[in-house]
This record gives sequence, C-alpha cells and structure tokens, in this order.
Amino acid sequence: TKKITSIPIALYGGRNAVSMLPGGGIGPELMTYVREVFKYAGAPVDFEVIDIDAKAEDNIDLEYAITSIKRNGVAIKGNIETKSKSSDVLSRNVAIRNELDLFVNILHVKSYPGVVARQKDIDIVIIRQNTEGEYAMLEHESVEGVVESMKIVTESNSERVARFAFEWAKTNGRKKITTIHKANIMKLSDGLFLETSKKIAKEYPEIEHNDMIIDNCCMQLVSRPHQFDVMIMTNLYGSIVSNVVCGLIGGAGLLSGKNYGSHYAIFEPATRNTGKAIAGKNIANPIAMLSAGCDMLQHLGHQQHANLIQRAIFKTISEDKIHTPDLGGTAKSTDVVQRIIDHILQSDIRP
Ligand code: ADP
Ligand code: MG
Repeated sequence: TKKITSIPIALYGGRNAVSMLPGGGIGPELMTYVREVFKYAGAPVDFEVIDIDAKAEDNIDLEYAITSIKRNGVAIKGNIETKSKSSDVLSRNVAIRNELDLFVNILHVKSYPGVVARQKDIDIVIIRQNTEGEYAMLEHESVEGVVESMKIVTESNSERVARFAFEWAKTNGRKKITTIHKANIMKLSDGLFLETSKKIAKEYPEIEHNDMIIDNCCMQLVSRPHQFDVMIMTNLYGSIVSNVVCGLIGGAGLLSGKNYGSHYAIFEPATRNTGKAIAGKNIANPIAMLSAGCDMLQHLGHQQHANLIQRAIFKTISEDKIHTPDLGGTAKSTDVVQRIIDHILQSDIRP
C-alpha cells in the first residue's frame, strides 16, 4: 500500500507508540490477542489504550481518543458503541474518522484457501469514501413526521478518493477500476462522484475504467464476482458492498480494513462489527483484528514483523484449518491464537 501519512509517526527508543481503541463487544478480547501475538513476534510497538464509555452523554472520552491518535499518528480500533439516542451525541466511529479526515477506507478482499465459502479465488479491492455521503449526520425533523437527511458529496473528496484509487491500482499492478453509483436517480450527488472519477481516469490511460449502478453491482457480486478488480464508491454503498464481499469469502471475522487521511491512519476489522452477542464466549474469530495489526505493522515500516504474523495466520487458517465457528469450525478463539503463536515461535524468519 502506498504510504500517504505525511506527519512523522511517534517513535520512542526505536519503538512505535500507537493508540489502541478496543471498543465494545468482542473488541477487548480481540485486542488481548493482538498484544499476545505482537509480544511473541517481537513487534516493536507500545500501545496507549483508550476506552470510550458507550453510555457517555458527553464527548470527553472521544476527544481524548482523538488527541491520542493525533499524537501517535496511528491507531488500531474495534467498533465503538454509542448508546445515546440523542442526535447531539455523534456516532464515535464516524466522529473519529471525520475529525481525523480519514477520507478513504480500503478493503482488500482476498480469499483464504482452505476456508469453505460461497465464492473461491476472490481478489477485490473496495475503496470507499469514508467521511461524507450519507454519513454526514445532518438530519432534522423539518415538520412533525417529516425527517430530512442530507447526503453530502463534494468534488474535492470525490477527487481525493478517485486519485487514491488510481494511484493504488497503479502501484499495485491492478488493471481495472469500477465506479459504483446511483447517478441515474441521484443525478447531482452521485453524478458528481461519477463524473469526477471519469475525469481522474483520463489521467491513467493504462488502467481500464467503467461504472456500474449499485443495485446491479450487488447482483453481479453475488453471481459473477470475478469481473471486479478495484471498486470505488461513496460511503454507504461502501459499507454495504464491503459486507456483501466479506460474506462471499467467509464472513465478518476474517478481514481487515484500513482508513487513511493525509496525516493519520486507523486499522480495524473490515466490517466494523461490535459482535455483542458473541462477546466473552471465546468464539470470536481473531483473524480480522490480527490482520488489522499486520496492516498497522506494515504501515509503520515493520515489514518483517508483519510478514511473520501474516504467514503464521495463513498456516493456521489455510493449512492447519484451525477455524472458529463462524468459519464452520469448532476451535476456540484461543486455539487459533495459540496455533498462530506456535507458528511464530517455529518460524525461521523471526526478525
Ligand atoms: P451485533 O449487532 O450483535 O453486535 P454485529 O452486527 O456486530 O453483531 O455482527 C454481525 C454478525 O457478524 C454477528 O452475527 C456477529 O456474531 C458476527 N461477527 C462479527 N465479528 C465476528 C468475529 N470476529 N468472529 C465471528 N463472528 C463475528
Ligand atoms: Mg451490528
């Protein structure tokens, strides 16, 4: 991945300090596994743990978290719950992304051999506008019984996302980008997003560009997903399409997603689930969060440590087939983690 963070990342005595936001549900247990695996891999990272009270009616914890990420430059994060029904209390997940201007979310959906899934050999990259669109959180009841919700699309953000996508495709040798939209109905908002991506596409003649309407896209993803290479889309379509594609290859527990802005980066599980119903049962799949940890190590420049953990994950999932129940297996979360640690300890590529 192209590194786009321009502010130096915190590095004390050769170790990176990073913010860790466990969030609710399965977040805290998954973070325990990340710490454990990082310890055995010798990853030079120290965590600053920040808990955000889901019941809070104020934004004190939230502001502290944002300050921490601004200081460290990098965070690993679970999904944060926001219990308040008041429209004054923002979704903390959205607020963090907006405040840090993490304008793009990138999700590389690649099949794991050995995992029973609806589709095989998937390799799709979803690049999503991450701060505006339907997530603008500008809603009001204009008269009783009538609610208006604003979808914001700006040329500058559409352009940043398109440019990021084409640069990413170029750097990573991808051949085709598809813009997903509903410009036939939302002519101005989605129209602007689509036209902007077409404009940027002209600067990259070596990469094929086409577009597809979101509803057709969902059908095509289920029936003929191999036609897709890199996809770009606005925020809400991105959320839905990410979940569809993750579902095709093994569900919510397997993949990680990256959030980038010009200054900061946040790494988290791809589908951003809380997993409240499975919390504390030792059955959550630890792979999505561990992969987020690998993405973070790569971003920090610790390529060897990232490779070490990634290989151990691959061996555990694809060769040993130690799978949690979400993948059809019977292993506990801790069985998966233990096997990953065993592979790390046996590896001859330990840094
Ligand atoms: P909830 O609304 O109960 O918090 P989510 O919406 O967070 O559930 O998650 C959607 C589905 O994905 C749930 O069935 C949840 O159990 C499952 N899920 C999410 N993360 C994981 C994981 N790491 N391992 C296994 N299943 C997961
Ligand atoms: Mg949910």
